[in-house]
Amino acid sequence: MVPFIYDPIYSDLDLPERHRYPIHKYKMLHQWALSHGASSEQFVRPNPLTWSQVKTVHSADYVRKLKSNAFDKKEWRKVGFPWSTQLLTRTLTSAGGTFETVKTALDKRIAIHFSGGYHHAHHDWGSGFCLINDLAISAILATQAQPNLKILIFDTDVHQGDGTATLLRNHERIFTCSIHGERNFPFTKVDSDLDVALPKGTTDGAYLDAVKHTLHKVAKDFKPDLILYDAGVDIYRRDDLGHLDVSIEGIFSRDYFVLDYAKQNNINLAAVIGGGYQRNLSRLILAHAQLLRASHQVWSD
Ligand SMILES: [Zn+2]
Repeated sequence: MVPFIYDPIYSDLDLPERHRYPIHKYKMLHQWALSHGASSEQFVRPNPLTWSQVKTVHSADYVRKLKSNAFDKKEWRKVGFPWSTQLLTRTLTSAGGTFETVKTALDKRIAIHFSGGYHHAHHDWGSGFCLINDLAISAILATQAQPNLKILIFDTDVHQGDGTATLLRNHERIFTCSIHGERNFPFTKVDSDLDVALPKGTTDGAYLDAVKHTLHKVAKDFKPDLILYDAGVDIYRRDDLGHLDVSIEGIFSRDYFVLDYAKQNNINLAAVIGGGYQRNLSRLILAHAQLLRASHQVWSD
């Protein structure tokens, strides 16, 4: 049974009508899982991160401004969310969920987070719906608890993981790898340890070749104990924000490959669902559900 990390609070955020962020997708994915054979015991509710854990990568001044709604208009525009206490609680819980997923994966070999992947959050600024970099914080906290641990952050969201790349630049035991659309946000990319930028309109074959080749190469060279996998589905051809041309079957093949690769090579795997921005929520859920389908197939064999 693959452990799923989820909290109903993920969809608890009042946003203006027609806001771009698909806040309801989390509870809908949870519903999808339950109606496709997941049991309620499979779900683990996370503890929120503490502010002192947040300061692992974010500046004290940034945390103070975030807590007290002291960003200026421009800073909030960059983030894309309106401030509320609800936003803070949700953000801390979601980031705590990624840390819980990493800890669970180290114990059970696999765990999937029904949120996470806030990879555009930087040391002292937020951006692109990302306030707290759950990936960087979770990886650092895990390596602090187990100093010999080596973590590969394998980010296949269509947007480059610029915040994660900056925050972990000099970290010897954490390797950052981003496979993304070269024409997608962020328009100023930051070097990860390894970046693969794909041209607009990349289709399944070339996309899957890039994922397979890159993961194999990095895993062979870096030898991670854990892969923290961002399974963003904004690579999907019908995504409103992505510029790639990957099908639903392509998403399933990517997720299956990554999970199966980790299992075959005895690497623990912690996955987060990452980005996905379609106004059609049932299609969006189907895209995210490929990760759950893949985990079921890989781990029920
Ligand atoms: Zn994205």
